[in-house]
Amino acid sequence: MPRDFKIFYNENVPDDIVDHVEMLLRDIYSLSFRIVGVRIPRQDCWDDSKHSFDAKALLRNMGRDSTTFFTWLIDKPLIVNQENVYGYGETLKGSIVTTSKLATKTLIAKEVAFHVGTVLGLKKCSEDCLMSVSENFERLIHKPSILCNMCKMKYQRLKIRYA
Ligand SMILES: [Zn+2]
Repeated sequence: MPRDFKIFYNENVPDDIVDHVEMLLRDIYSLSFRIVGVRIPRQDCWDDSKHSFDAKALLRNMGRDSTTFFTWLIDKPLIVNQENVYGYGETLKGSIVTTSKLATKTLIAKEVAFHVGTVLGLKKCSEDCLMSVSENFERLIHKPSILCNMCKMKYQRLKIRYA
């Protein structure tokens, strides 16, 4: 496990959202999360035709600085393979979530926690679980903000393996 998991955000994301995200992440993963500060997305990752940032391109750029184990909140829409998404994460690398389409800080935190799970090595889950895929807004609203027992056990094993 990383010594600490970094939280970046862009300047338009309010502090209370960032704080709420950090609190939920700490509850679920019992890791040290560190709010690093503002990070501005690079303009060459902007897709003009979609009026969105390309999530994979943004993560690739973070990879160039060897920044891993992070999540990044931005207020502009995101796309992956030309489709709009709430967020995106890559295992052992990092994740990114947009606040632009999620109305409450509860929903934002839940979406961030799902992608952070992916970064930490959890897979998608078919139980009533945070790690179930929110393929639509309805599903995101109704799924729980906690891991199911299977995912909790998996996560404990992952923590030992990385330690
Ligand atoms: Zn699960």
